Amino acid sequence: MILLWGVLTSCEQPLPDNQTGSAERPAYVLVIHGGAGTIERSQMSDTLEKAYRQALNMALDQGKRVLKNGGTAEDAIIAAILYMENDSLFNAGRGAVFNNAGAHELDASIMTGHDLKAGAVTGAKRIKNPILAARAVKDQSDHVLLAGDGADEFAQFMQLKIVDNQYFSTDKRRLSLDKIQKREQTPNRMGTVGAVAMDRLGNIAAGTSTGGMTNKKYNRIGDAPLIGAGNYADNQSCAVSCTGHGEYFIRYAVAHDLAARVKYLDETLEEAARHILFDRLLPAGGTGGLIALDTSGSFVMEFNTPGMYRGYTKPGKREVAIYGDEGD
Ligand code: ASP
Repeated sequence: MILLWGVLTSCEQPLPDNQTGSAERPAYVLVIHGGAGTIERSQMSDTLEKAYRQALNMALDQGKRVLKNGGTAEDAIIAAILYMENDSLFNAGRGAVFNNAGAHELDASIMTGHDLKAGAVTGAKRIKNPILAARAVKDQSDHVLLAGDGADEFAQFMQLKIVDNQYFSTDKRRLSLDKIQKREQTPNRMGTVGAVAMDRLGNIAAGTSTGGMTNKKYNRIGDAPLIGAGNYADNQSCAVSCTGHGEYFIRYAVAHDLAARVKYLDETLEEAARHILFDRLLPAGGTGGLIALDTSGSFVMEFNTPGMYRGYTKPGKREVAIYGDEGD
């Protein structure tokens, strides 16, 4: 397969969209999110809304190009997440939220469903694209999760791009921190990016990347870098990427619980996602959302918040949405 991918990319011949491994499923599917939270029309300017929709489309374009050319689900989610990490609209990479000390600590994770391999970094301060470090941990270390200075050092050793912590800073996030610290703003301090994809071979993968929650203290770690909480992928079940109040997603092991419900209880993605988000998390006070996709190409984009930046693409179809009252 590696050889095939090399050949396909070097001659850049897109495969016909209907060329799939089976008659029933679409050739490929990519689903992304850019964070869930109190995202309401009344608080959004037309310009900002347009910018978000455009950014979601650009991220979908990046991942779709990979899948259309016969690339892997893993490469597709990386391409989509890289775009969002580099776009300061999202709380991941540049544009990440500030912690209590006025700095940035980044988390990311990745998992591939055909081999159950996973990699993650947490509390990284200098890795320009944490999702690439997560993949390097998966493929080039004996470990699953590297933290703090060690994660930065490993990324440097892997020759990934290293930046000053200030690279991640934006005025918008600085203002949010100021307001939360002066108690002028009720914390709507969430945001994360994520992607799940299915490639032409029917393999699935999931990736998640975040700056965590604004004003976080004491090296707090959320769900995003924790396999089974904010991210999971298993070809026998589904690929999942979560966003929301991480402490709840950790306690309820959301990503793995979803995969387990689908695998062992034979629930649909929608049944499992809605049960977890609305019957378990919400009554406990946990808000957020998730995207999930199985090897048949079925997927969900569910959330128990007013909105979630989200979108998907598959042959002949694409959609991006923000608010709760739009989309499929
Ligand atoms: N889940 C992330 C965290 O708790 C934040 C988010 O997704 O909004 O760090």
